[in-house]
Amino acid sequence: MSEQTSDRAAGERPRNVVVVGAGMAGVQTVVALRERGFTGPVTLIGAEPHQPYDRPPLSKAVLLGTAEDSAFDVDFEALDITLRLGLDVTGLRAAAHELDTRDGPVPYDVLVIATGAEPVGLPGADGVPGVHLLRTLDDAARLRPVLERQHDVVVVGAGWIGAEFTTAARAAGCAVTVVEAAGRPLAGTLPAEVAEPMAAWYAESGAELLTGTRVARVEPGAVHLTDGQTVPAGAVVVVGIGARPATGWLAGSGIALGPDGSVTADGSLRTSLPDVHAVGDCASFPSARYGERLLVHHWDNALQGPRTVAAVIADGLPRTYDPVPYFWSEQFGRFVQYAGHHAGADTLLRRGDPADPGWTVCWLRQGVLVALLAVSRPRDLAQGRRLIEAGARMDPERVADPSVPLKSATS
Ligand SMILES: Cc1cc2nc3c(=O)[nH]c(=O)nc-3n(C[C@H](O)[C@H](O)[C@H](O)COP(=O)(O)OP(=O)(O)OC[C@H]3O[C@@H](n4cnc5c(N)ncnc54)[C@H](O)[C@@H]3O)c2cc1C
Repeated sequence: MSEQTSDRAAGERPRNVVVVGAGMAGVQTVVALRERGFTGPVTLIGAEPHQPYDRPPLSKAVLLGTAEDSAFDVDFEALDITLRLGLDVTGLRAAAHELDTRDGPVPYDVLVIATGAEPVGLPGADGVPGVHLLRTLDDAARLRPVLERQHDVVVVGAGWIGAEFTTAARAAGCAVTVVEAAGRPLAGTLPAEVAEPMAAWYAESGAELLTGTRVARVEPGAVHLTDGQTVPAGAVVVVGIGARPATGWLAGSGIALGPDGSVTADGSLRTSLPDVHAVGDCASFPSARYGERLLVHHWDNALQGPRTVAAVIADGLPRTYDPVPYFWSEQFGRFVQYAGHHAGADTLLRRGDPADPGWTVCWLRQGVLVALLAVSRPRDLAQGRRLIEAGARMDPERVADPSVPLKSATS
């Protein structure tokens, strides 16, 4: 496609692309636009005052102080991207093709919504001193001294970030109690038979995991639980109970949102409004591969989705976004990776004993590999991901034998 047709609206001035949200998805979108040869004006607006940065290190190296920050290595000036940081977009007026900000309206020809997600807070604990969230660089900076002073820490929620924070806090020498409402870690994500062995990782690290109970009340120095227990908290509570799409600013804009608050994009990541796209943690999309709408809150989705958005904007043609979702987590000395989506699976196969340092679980649907979870077996993950993408049919007996490479376990 020529520059004339790709960058210009009906042969007039170049189209002006505005991306709202300067996290992974927003940054990757502006980079991908330039990589595809889009030469029109591109503006990236972000609410946070910092140079755009990557979030996964916040619960790992940045929290432990082994890395100062995690700014993206992108030269925005060289790419001719206008960066407007520390600026909140408060509204979208689609008919006027304008955004509202405290600095006045920002016009766009093409808009990309990449505002990510916001952590779910602990009911009744908003603004209580010593209650922390972990989503931003500022959150991580506030938590670092908490770890350095080796406070008693209560972690609320045994999800992925709860586990990573627990790992860091134990490494820093804190006493850690984890409070989880469900009966096991990762209850919303993994079935009991897969997640149960992970409960032992908390104990092994010296953290106490309390399941089936909730925080009833937080007061300075203590957390009261619904089952009557009181846990000393060194005035510190860390909340890790999930995140929801940061789409409140779109209220009244007419854009279609799902019950989960996500922007309901189509298979090309276009929204219900003309010239408006959505990508990353804030957007759900229909997956033909899995036969349902997916809302993925993981880094790889914020890397891959922008390539589709940039291609659709630059070429003006639809393009299908239907990835095999992937994420990783570093916890308790283990490298945990997941690829696929196991909701429709009918068979679960283990490769290796969960008591061993490394093991894998594979999910099949009608004999076809649809998802896998690999604990410190990155080769299984790499091979399995390709097999899922290819829709490979597997031999269950060979899959269950950890000495057989997964790529050799097809039928
Ligand atoms: C602590 C932590 C650890 C993680 N570790 C992993 C991991 O190990 N593996 C993995 O796969 N995933 C991990 N993730 C998830 C991954 O980081 C996210 O999926 C990814 O950051 C999503 O990128 P995004 O750009 O869609 O959203 P975000 O990173 O949330 O960025 C959105 C940006 O938009 C800005 N914004 C929001 N509203 C507005 C507005 N109205 N106006 C202007 N700007 C706005 C926000 O301030 C934010 O900077 C982790 C997340 C966290 C928080």
